[in-house]
Amino acid sequence: MPHGTSADAALRQQFLAQVQKLWPAIRGSLSEVRKPCIRPHCAACARGDKHPAFLLSFTENGRRRCMYVPAELVPRLQQGLQNGRQLEALLSQLGPRLLRHYRQARDSSHAP
Ligand SMILES: [Zn+2]
Repeated sequence: MPHGTSADAALRQQFLAQVQKLWPAIRGSLSEVRKPCIRPHCAACARGDKHPAFLLSFTENGRRRCMYVPAELVPRLQQGLQNGRQLEALLSQLGPRLLRHYRQARDSSHAP
């Protein structure tokens, strides 16, 4: 068995265990907007208060898009956004960690 393989497998297991805990994970941003409604003589709209609404902005095929989010789903999406940021941080950390492992494995196989 070449040196470094068990370390690689351990990193893989560690990564999969962490990813498992990060569901749901999404990427984008959630914002609150105020929209007028279509009801005639609406007191809130007449006051200029309008109605709070939530928008999820995301990128699809390089284009910025957004979708309305019902208020009761906002906490779940916020959790998804937080998990998504953790997942991205995890991937960023993995680059240097993997490279160190691969270099160590290469160096030890080249050693006399
Ligand atoms: Zn209204």
